[in-house]
Amino acid sequence: MYREKLKTFLILALVAAIIPAAVYRYSVARDPYAREIPVFTYHRICPDEEYASFSREKDLWTKTSDFEKEMRWLHCHGYRTVSIDELYRWHQGRLDLPKKTVAITFDDGYYSVIRYALPIMEKYHIKGTMFVIGNMVTEHQDTEDPMAYVSRDTIRELRRTCPELEFQSHSYGLHHDSNRNAVIYRTEYPGILRDFRRQEKVLGKGVDVIAYPYGYRTEGFEKAARKSGYRMAFLYSQQRGVRRSDSLFSLPRIGVRGDVDPDVAFFRWLGDDQ
Ligand SMILES: [Zn+2]
Repeated sequence: MYREKLKTFLILALVAAIIPAAVYRYSVARDPYAREIPVFTYHRICPDEEYASFSREKDLWTKTSDFEKEMRWLHCHGYRTVSIDELYRWHQGRLDLPKKTVAITFDDGYYSVIRYALPIMEKYHIKGTMFVIGNMVTEHQDTEDPMAYVSRDTIRELRRTCPELEFQSHSYGLHHDSNRNAVIYRTEYPGILRDFRRQEKVLGKGVDVIAYPYGYRTEGFEKAARKSGYRMAFLYSQQRGVRRSDSLFSLPRIGVRGDVDPDVAFFRWLGDDQ
């Protein structure tokens, strides 16, 4: 009797050990490449010597040398940067991507990205996506103010000359008001729909990806995004990569803090081959 029980126990223990391993092997076989794709987010880029002069939001400023170090590393280690459309197709199981794949995004639409990050991206063949706040877009480009946003003519020019940088939406006016208070928290579904129509006048009709203002997802916002024809929406600072199991309207991103050493802010999210 005791032997029978022992035998049953051993069989059950064996099955318990085999099943998870088999499930794991099955899932790896289905997707032998990236299990998670990191989507990094930056805000503003500045020359190193100017970094000390910014007293506020130091996490949102990335020094040019740090950005260059990060992009050069991706390039030298054989990483591929993908467009948002490639990420979408991967998510839908329609595109295989190698293990060394990341996406680079910039929130808010600062001109400093164009001025300091874009030449580095061109040098290392890095693709990127900028999520633009529509009501901050100026008519003509201010190239002096470090906090300046991109202008309509800059967007128009870059769409013509630089297909590697894509412009997508961060809402028209749901980000912050003139006191820099978040607007998203107090806007309901009909207002959000109206906001998206206004954004279309700034960025045109092709825009179909959105980043939640401050990464703050509301049900009304998601519903309005789906209704308005957006196909993906990004959160902010979940500090993990995108999985195929993530909802297309709750995609996580990794915020790269400029006030933290790149080893912690950026490199730790990548493979072991540093
Ligand atoms: Zn933002």
